[in-house]
Amino acid sequence: MKTIRLREGKDRSLLRRHPWVFHSSIAKGGADPGETVRVEAADGRFLAWGAFSPSSMIRVRAWSFVEADQIDPAHFDRRIRRAVALRARLPVASNGVRLVHGEADGLPGLVVDRYGELLCAQFGSAGTERWKAAIADALLAATGCERLYERSDSGVRGLEGLPPVAGWLRGGGASEATITEHDWRLTLDVAEGHKTGFYLDQRDNRALLGRWVRHFGCQRVLNCYSYTGGFSVAALAGGAAHVTSVDSSAPALARAQAHVALNGFDAARSTVVDADVNQFLRDALKSGARYDCIVLDPPKFAPTAAHAERASRAYKDINRLALRLLEPGGLLLSFSCSGGIGAELFHKIVAGAGMDAGVDAAILQRLEGACDHPTTIEFPEGEYLKGLALLKAAA
Ligand code: SAH
Repeated sequence: MKTIRLREGKDRSLLRRHPWVFHSSIAKGGADPGETVRVEAADGRFLAWGAFSPSSMIRVRAWSFVEADQIDPAHFDRRIRRAVALRARLPVASNGVRLVHGEADGLPGLVVDRYGELLCAQFGSAGTERWKAAIADALLAATGCERLYERSDSGVRGLEGLPPVAGWLRGGGASEATITEHDWRLTLDVAEGHKTGFYLDQRDNRALLGRWVRHFGCQRVLNCYSYTGGFSVAALAGGAAHVTSVDSSAPALARAQAHVALNGFDAARSTVVDADVNQFLRDALKSGARYDCIVLDPPKFAPTAAHAERASRAYKDINRLALRLLEPGGLLLSFSCSGGIGAELFHKIVAGAGMDAGVDAAILQRLEGACDHPTTIEFPEGEYLKGLALLKAAA
């Protein structure tokens, strides 16, 4: 077993069960990609077992803080059963559920979503790559599912020195699935979709939107960055007369339009627009269009804190435009999924957008990701999705 010795005073974060060891904290030691190492303090005290990643700034990700633990297939089996058991207790109104949420489930770098009987996993770290077969076996055993698709093709793999990979890990067949979220049927394709195919984290916020559209009687809804139209279906279910879905992905929009019919709504109540949202908002303002409700759910503008400044301007821009496009009394749901932008900063950005737009608005509710994407007290970095529901002042 190889050992990683930390510099003096660098034991604090592991002692608080934060699972990352940065390159700069290490005094000596090394190992192969994904190899299990013993991490010890400057004085030799045991701190953690972890996976070594020679090319990443996050040089070790901890598997366990218990010296007696063995990092073997049985360890992954236990962790995965624990994650699956937690989801079984959570109030998740869907058969689409995030089963494993990385660090929050003691499995740094691993993301697993379940869509009915189909699993989709992302192995985003050298450690999960090394234990892929054991993890795949444990996932099938814990869920009873027979099909597991791998979507390890996100950018973070590059930081770990891993190539992008996608394909069936267990089983095979059609990569499409249909889930029932709340009362709605939504389809996805684990091979073709974004990430693992679907944004499960917005599940509860979609339900809230449907309820609010009904409560406030919103008629014209604009869903920006709509992807496959989850919020659009929610708005129609809430009684909106018409919803416009804007996204820059044509396949996502085709699916959004299909979801309207699949859920029994008249296709004439939905328009999909393949456009850049910022440009769409500007054009809409010029043309004098107005909406009773707008959703802004952009992609990650700031992957890390280093991108925060440019991202702040981008968030402010779209929020300013959206607040102006809203009818007085209208509802705005505005989100950021940037890890580099905390909730407080996001609230400031949106407040600044309101100032610039000359619009008064009240916070109806602060929003976050669904509970199957947990944040643990040891790992606040896991908190990424934040949002605000705002009511524009009535005229
Ligand atoms: N609200 C969606 C998830 C949105 S993910 C849901 O509930 O499922 C972000 C979406 O933004 C993606 O579908 C992506 O295609 C789209 N996108 C990224 N940049 C864009 C841009 N500049 N203009 C329009 N859409 C964009």
